[in-house]
Amino acid sequence: MKPSGALSLYVHIPFCTLKCSYCDFNSYAGLEELVQPYVSALITEMELWSQYARGRPVPTVFFGGGTPSLLPIEQIGRILSALRERFELAPEAEVTLEANPGTVNLDYLRELLALGVNRLSFGVQSFHDDELAALDRIHSAAEAEEAYRWARDAGFQRINLDLIYGLPEQQMERWQASLKRAISLAPDHMSLYALTVEEGTKLAYDIDHGRAPEPDGDVQASMYEWSQERMAEAGYQQYEISNWARPGQECRHNLVYWRNGDWLALGAGAHSHLSGTRFADVYSPKRYVQLVQEAANAGPPDATDVAALLKSMRQVTYVEEARPEVARSDTLIMGLRLNEGVSLAEFRRRFGAGAEAAYADTFAELTKLDLLERTNDRIRITDHGRLLANEVFTRLLPD
Ligand code: SF4
Repeated sequence: MKPSGALSLYVHIPFCTLKCSYCDFNSYAGLEELVQPYVSALITEMELWSQYARGRPVPTVFFGGGTPSLLPIEQIGRILSALRERFELAPEAEVTLEANPGTVNLDYLRELLALGVNRLSFGVQSFHDDELAALDRIHSAAEAEEAYRWARDAGFQRINLDLIYGLPEQQMERWQASLKRAISLAPDHMSLYALTVEEGTKLAYDIDHGRAPEPDGDVQASMYEWSQERMAEAGYQQYEISNWARPGQECRHNLVYWRNGDWLALGAGAHSHLSGTRFADVYSPKRYVQLVQEAANAGPPDATDVAALLKSMRQVTYVEEARPEVARSDTLIMGLRLNEGVSLAEFRRRFGAGAEAAYADTFAELTKLDLLERTNDRIRITDHGRLLANEVFTRLLPD
């Protein structure tokens, strides 16, 4: 049976000017010649999914990467008009685009707004030039500030800034200075991430070879606690482990992930979640272009259900079968990231009366350890639990 209800869209743009030292996202430098065919493949992939998506309102679209702002404005225009033709974009839809401050100017931002992008997310990471250089970012602190001001001048009303804390050898004062400078710009939303060392990155290599120290977990925890206080003083509400917003300015797209809703992700390496099934497209952008074409050559796909559709989607190279115990665990783990926590009534409605009982012992134990708390019908992570979130989540994984 074809599902109904809202369907969010994610569009992955895998191109970057330079690979940042800490980055393990599916992004590549030096693939400029692939931009045009890649955008064409994205549009073909939209076509492949359009029958399935018919009748489902699209409340949010998110252009992530990679560096979506590296795309020429005409290519963004092509994607957005194709999207409007093939999906039912709600009139008040939130349309976010991730932008690297080193890639934009005032005209570009004006044109983005005119095309219907109504929210920007700038990857700023730090307001210290030496830290930006150590991270291999392509912009300076002054350029980040300038890009932010251009975005306001262009008319953007919803802007997020991403910052990273706990860099190797970073002192508390340096982080404090970065966050204060970000707050002084008055963005509507901020995402603050602790630096993590991901396998295969330049940063991991440097640490393994003694060229950089590991980030200090205790320092990161102190920075996190200080940031929580500072953000609250500045009028931001924390609504997720790493996210703060002015009232009403939460990222509606990311809320779909945390509430374990349905989203379709288009593009190389993009991960989707539809009707309990998780799947992903092939990682290599070049292979993605080829496989989307092969899928299109095979004729219109069977649009009745996700399982039938996925068989004909040649570009989908990873499918995780829907398993109720995984869906339950995902719903809890993602939902507990949010300050609102998880509604147990909603949990029972979605997974049946026995679902809550299956977690009764774990909930009781985590509550006793002051990691979870229960108020009326909701279960939430405590302040203490937020600092030990990974331990809490590990306990909620399926056996
Ligand atoms: S700009 Fe973003 S996606 Fe690109 S390499 Fe840097 S962190 Fe990764």
